[in-house]
Amino acid sequence: MTTQIRAEAVIDLAAIEHNVRWLLQVARNSNPAAELMAVVKADAYGHGAVPVAEAARRAGALALGVATPGEGLALVAAGLEATADRPIVAWLWVPGQDIRPAIAAGVQLVVSSPLQLAAVLEAAGQAPGGRADLHLKIDTGLGRGGSTPADFPALVNDAARAQRRGRIRVVGLMSHLASADLPDDGSVTDQISAFRRACAVAEAAGLNPRWRHLANTPGTLAWPAATFDLVRCGIGMYGISPFEHEVPDLLPAMTLRAGVALVKRVPADHGVSYGLTYRTTQETTLALVPIGYADGIPRAAGARGQVLLGGTRRGIAGRIAMDQFVVDCGEDAVAVGDEVIIFGPGTSGEPTATEWADAAGTIAYEIVTRISVRVPRRYVGHPADDPVPIGGGMDEGST
Ligand SMILES: *Cc1c(COP(=O)(O)O)cnc(C)c1O
Repeated sequence: MTTQIRAEAVIDLAAIEHNVRWLLQVARNSNPAAELMAVVKADAYGHGAVPVAEAARRAGALALGVATPGEGLALVAAGLEATADRPIVAWLWVPGQDIRPAIAAGVQLVVSSPLQLAAVLEAAGQAPGGRADLHLKIDTGLGRGGSTPADFPALVNDAARAQRRGRIRVVGLMSHLASADLPDDGSVTDQISAFRRACAVAEAAGLNPRWRHLANTPGTLAWPAATFDLVRCGIGMYGISPFEHEVPDLLPAMTLRAGVALVKRVPADHGVSYGLTYRTTQETTLALVPIGYADGIPRAAGARGQVLLGGTRRGIAGRIAMDQFVVDCGEDAVAVGDEVIIFGPGTSGEPTATEWADAAGTIAYEIVTRISVRVPRRYVGHPADDPVPIGGGMDEGST
């Protein structure tokens, strides 16, 4: 029996593995000893943290990076290794938050302030071996997380003292780039220099951490001097270019598709969707696509968003609603159950997440990350699987 889908996100794990291997190779062109941290925060940018983390590790990612300690804990609970040699690192948390479970699970936290250092010290006894491994973060210009260069020496001294007492171990120094996606942006060279100075300050205080890490995906691809010991790649791993231009070596991993729920003929001058902002110009066939902004389709993409239906690119008729939108198919033959590809790698003529981002006035990071929990994820390209084509027809969604 075949089962029709409403909507699903197909995640190609083979594409993720390819992207990880390629990004690692790029990093190692700059530093042959460089390692890669797969950034799987926000449920791996909507792709599913656990399967993506497993795929990234298979492809050679040493470390996993998340925003919150809870995200790190969930990876450990799912069986992913969090050790000194294969770390899981979490960089966004509030002093006073209960970090003990994450520390006890071996998740390495990032510390930007004396308050955060005190919190880790308090929880350190719970850590494996009674000693918490942490990373110190410096703000080299982004103006977001991290200690300012003025405050950093005191933080470093406190951390070095705690390390000498055996309570913690500083295993990393990190910072984050603001504008590595812009070609030749002077802020990046400034940040690289500031990061080098911060590393020297830490070394002078007796710290010699294993990982110095600065680069995100655009830093890895465009700024070899930002590679240091470890690169933290998110968007590139999902196959999406962080730049204005495409990066042909990156293979987009997510395909968002739906099945046509209803087809009907309507006369000329029929309004479509809320506000009746779209009117048919002649008698035509409308197709109802059962996915909307509650699923993460950006309403703001409005009339500029396109989908692939019946092998043809088509615009969206009228407003995107919470759960659905309509496509005007004219005289073309369209049937209930026909596949609608909202976005994918673009190899079958479908739009990409980047095109949707342009239509919505945002970035592709936001398009994939906001695909909501209502959309089931289906994984293909696992090494144990037979190869499965993506976007190759509706029976692919059958079970
Ligand atoms: C999200 C994030 C990254 C990954 O950035 P990409 O541009 O997706 O590669 C790296 N480092 C930090 C601190 C982040 O928050």
